[in-house]
Amino acid sequence: MTKKIFSSICLVSFCVAISCVILIAGGLYSYFTNQQQNSLKILTEMAAEAIEHIGEDYFDELELSGSRVTWVDAEGKVLYDTLLEPAHMGSHLEREEITEALKSGIGESVRYSDSLTEYWFYYAIRLSDGTVIRLSSAQSSVIVLIAEFIIPLIVIFLFILFLSLLLAFRLSKLIVKPLNSLNLDEPLNNKHYDEIKPLLARISSQQHKLIKQERDLLKRQQEFTAVTEGMSEGLVLLNSRGLILSINNAAVKLLGLKGELKGKDFISNINTAKIRETAGEGLFGNSFEAEFTLEGKIYTIKAEPVYSDSQLTGVVLLLLDITDKKQNESLRREFTANVSHELKTPLHSISGYSELISEGLVKESDVKDFGKKIYSESHRLLSLVDDILRLSRLDEGKFTGDIEYTDINLKVLISEIFKGLSYQCERNKVECTLEGDEVSIKSSYRLCEDVFKNLIDNAVKYNKPEGLVKVKLKDTGNFAAVIIEDTGIGIEKEHISRIFERFYRVDKSHSKNIGGTGLGLSIVKHTLKHLGGEIDVESEINKGTKITVLMPKEKNLP
Ligand code: ADP
Repeated sequence: MTKKIFSSICLVSFCVAISCVILIAGGLYSYFTNQQQNSLKILTEMAAEAIEHIGEDYFDELELSGSRVTWVDAEGKVLYDTLLEPAHMGSHLEREEITEALKSGIGESVRYSDSLTEYWFYYAIRLSDGTVIRLSSAQSSVIVLIAEFIIPLIVIFLFILFLSLLLAFRLSKLIVKPLNSLNLDEPLNNKHYDEIKPLLARISSQQHKLIKQERDLLKRQQEFTAVTEGMSEGLVLLNSRGLILSINNAAVKLLGLKGELKGKDFISNINTAKIRETAGEGLFGNSFEAEFTLEGKIYTIKAEPVYSDSQLTGVVLLLLDITDKKQNESLRREFTANVSHELKTPLHSISGYSELISEGLVKESDVKDFGKKIYSESHRLLSLVDDILRLSRLDEGKFTGDIEYTDINLKVLISEIFKGLSYQCERNKVECTLEGDEVSIKSSYRLCEDVFKNLIDNAVKYNKPEGLVKVKLKDTGNFAAVIIEDTGIGIEKEHISRIFERFYRVDKSHSKNIGGTGLGLSIVKHTLKHLGGEIDVESEINKGTKITVLMPKEKNLP
C-alpha cells in the first residue's frame, strides 16, 4: 500500500511538475513575445524620429541587429531594406501594416514568412513626408525559447521532482502508519480515519460471524469426538490424499498405532494388507469391504468414499470386531448339525423297531421289550426336543410361561426337587441330603427349578450305587450359595471346561444309556447368565463332583 501511495503521489507530482514547466514555458513565451513587440515598436518610433531629423543619412549609420528595416514610399515602392536589394522587391502597398500605416499613421501585423519559414512581427509608422518606415523581427518559436531556457527549466523540474519524491516518501509513510497500527481485534475502537469506518464496521461484523462459526464448529467437533470416542467400532476419516483427518480410540487401539496421527498417511502406517487394500479402494472411489484377523480376533473393515459435487473429498473407514458374530455363526452351524444327528439316532431306532414289529418279525415274547425300547427312545426324543426348545428360547432371550419373580426359599425348592427325583434316587440307590442355612432369594422359581433340577439330576445320574448327593445352602451376604456334592464317577480335568458346551458328553454311550442329552449343563449356564448367577465345578475322577452355584439374593434379570 505504501508503494501504491508513493507511486501515486510521484505520478501526481510528476504531472504537476510537467504542467508547471509547460505553464512557465507558455508564460515566458507570451512575456517575451510582448517584450519583443514592444521593443520593436520603440525601435520603429526611434527610427522614424531619426529619419525625420537626419533624413536618408540615417540608413548609412544604421546598425540594427535582429531587426529588419524597410522604408517604403507612399506608393508602396521599397526605398530601403536591410535584408534585400530594393530593386528586387515588389510593391509593399498590399502589406497589411503598410496599408494601415498609410491610412492611420501606424500599422502592425504578424505574418508567416514562407521565404524565411518563421513568424515575423511588423510595425510601421508613416513619416511626415508620406513615406513609411517599417521594422520587423522574427518571432522566436516555443522550441527556440525553451531551448534557451532549457537548463533553468531542467533545474526547476529536477528540484520539483526531488521535492515530490521526498514529500511522497514522507506522506505515504504518514498515511500508512495509522493503518498499520489499527487494532483489528477491536476494529470499532480505532479513531484514525473516518473514511475507513465502514470497512472497520464490516471487519467487526465479520469477526463476530467468524467467532460464532468457530464456536459452532468447536461444539460440533466436540460432539463428534464424544460420539466417536464412545464407539466400540473403529472409525477413521481420511481426506482424498489418504491423510488421517480423524481417528477414534477404538481404531487406534485395534490398529496398534501410536503418537499424533492426524495429518499422517494412513496406508503407510498400516501393516495389515487387507486394511491397506480396503483404504486404497476407498481412495479410488470404490465402496469396499474385507475381513481380516488380528491377534486372534476377526474384524471386518468397510471403506465408504465421500463425494462432494462429484469430487472425492474423503473416505470413511469403519472397523468392526465380528469375532463373536463369527463364533456364534459357527456354533449355530455346529448346533444345527448336532441337533439333526441327535434326533436322527432315536428316530432310526423307533422306526427300526416298529418296522420289525409291523412286519411280524418279532417274537410274541419280545414285543414287550421292543415296546419298552420304542418308549425309551421316544422319551429320549422328547427330552431332546424339550431341551433344544428351552435352549433356543434362552438364546432368543425369551422365557415363555408365567415367569414371576418371587421370594424363593431354597430349602423348600431343593426339597421339592428331591421329591421329584425320588424314583431315580431309589433306582440308582443314591441318597440325597440337604443341610445349611435358611436362605431366600428373589428370582424366577421356574428357572431356578430348571437349574438345580438339572444339577441334582446329574449328581444322581453320574453317581455310583450306594452313592450320596449332598446339597448345602449358605448365605454369603449378597449371594446364596448352593453346593451340590456327589460321590459319583467324577469328571476328568480336561473335560471340566467343556461340559457346558452343547451336546458335550464325557462318555457318550454311558450318558446316552442313562438318558442324557448333553444339553443340561448348557441350559444351566445359559439360565444362570440371565439370572446373574455363577457356577463353579470341582471334580475328581472316581471320587465325585462338587458344583457351587452362587445366586444373587435380589432380582437380577435384564
Ligand atoms: P447330559 O444330559 O448328558 O447329562 P449335561 O450337559 O447335563 O448332559 O452334562 C454334560 C456331561 O457332563 C455329561 O454327559 C457328563 O459326562 C458330565 N457330567 C455332568 N454332571 C456330572 C456329574 N455330577 N458327575 C460326573 N459327570 C457329570
